[in-house]
Amino acid sequence: MESIDILIKNGHILTIDRKMHIFENNSIAVKDGKIIEISKTEFLRKKYSAKKTIDAKSKIVMPGFINAHTHLPMTYFRGLADDLHLQDWLENYIWPAEIKFISEEFVYSASLHGAAELIKNGITMFNDMYFFPMQTAKAATKVGIRAIVGQGIVDFPNSNYKDPKQALNNVVKYQNEFADNELIEFAIAPHSIYSCCSQTLKITAESAHKNNMLLHIHISETKKEVEDCLKQYHKRPIKYLNDIGFLDNNVVIAHGIWVDEEELNILKEKDISVVITTESNLKLASGFMPIKKYIEKGINLCLGTDGVASNNNLSILEEMDFTAKIHKAYNQNPSIIPAYKVVKMATINSAQAFKKQEELGSLKVGKKADIILIDTNKLEILPMYNVYSHLVYTISSNAICDVIINGKLIMENRKLLTVDEDEIIDKANYYKRKILTK
Ligand SMILES: [Zn+2]
Repeated sequence: MESIDILIKNGHILTIDRKMHIFENNSIAVKDGKIIEISKTEFLRKKYSAKKTIDAKSKIVMPGFINAHTHLPMTYFRGLADDLHLQDWLENYIWPAEIKFISEEFVYSASLHGAAELIKNGITMFNDMYFFPMQTAKAATKVGIRAIVGQGIVDFPNSNYKDPKQALNNVVKYQNEFADNELIEFAIAPHSIYSCCSQTLKITAESAHKNNMLLHIHISETKKEVEDCLKQYHKRPIKYLNDIGFLDNNVVIAHGIWVDEEELNILKEKDISVVITTESNLKLASGFMPIKKYIEKGINLCLGTDGVASNNNLSILEEMDFTAKIHKAYNQNPSIIPAYKVVKMATINSAQAFKKQEELGSLKVGKKADIILIDTNKLEILPMYNVYSHLVYTISSNAICDVIINGKLIMENRKLLTVDEDEIIDKANYYKRKILTK
């Protein structure tokens, strides 16, 4: 018998492969971080001797969710300022709080909290943007979650760096230091066109190109952003980014709400993926993205929670539910995005956005073992006729029981195995007191 690390047996396996194969009562063999076989339980039980066996009876087994846009170090700002417009929220609450509190220790602790929370939400990879990305990378490594950690870049003074150039030098250094870390990559994340001047955007693009790194930016989030861009640069945001050469790189954009036909054509031509962040956009009243037009153009769409300061949680299942329903109502068309397509947005489409569709986003032999198990044997879930419909409209994160990342069990029966949950809770209360007394 061949020795393996984990055998997941008797599962209802959702592959999210090209044909969306579903296998009943099947098993998955995991070894050295990868899926080495998917087959009938009886067959695999005789073939392998597993160090750990997980019984997935009555459980959905599927690829872990990918949160394609978030700001984990903002976890301690959850609920700090709500019911405000984006500019008011950013300029009068979030940015001042960041100036006062952000430090390496703050970013590490808040990221550790956020990463643990992601696991509880069945998220096995996240794409982040913030200051002190090295601390978020360390926290993600401690939790055992996969991450692309973006060095957030802005022109205004902050405690992380003296100018954008220094930030770029730092992130390239981090990328080299983490070269052997299988879970972590770094990215360059200029915050937006209103917090970075043209020169800053140009040097971030040059650095990303030179160092083969992802560029991650917020764009066309509000109507005001577009109006200001038209006033200042006499063109719309995506056209402006294209004209300065920013989009001739590996780029993922968040939001993309206020876009016109020409901008959609640019995104399609440059093969740029867009992260939908419905709950954050709803709460900040930023608007409704023209999802119908995106789908017609064939632009790759994926899902992100945004940070908890604007969401205020990290549930990708909730994001799926909101996104599906809002756009049905907004377009007066209930079939505009069927449930299975929403599930793809949170898995394989996100993998594609980060050019990782060959290794992540679906369950297939040879792919990395980023797998979640969801317990369906619950009053509020049964009966289940269509698993995709259930994932989008019925199941909440509480049903996510086990999480495996890179072949390692990170959560078992909702218990986190890599971090102490009580310590994380104590730290959150400590920082709340600190924030309130300043
Ligand atoms: Zn954001």
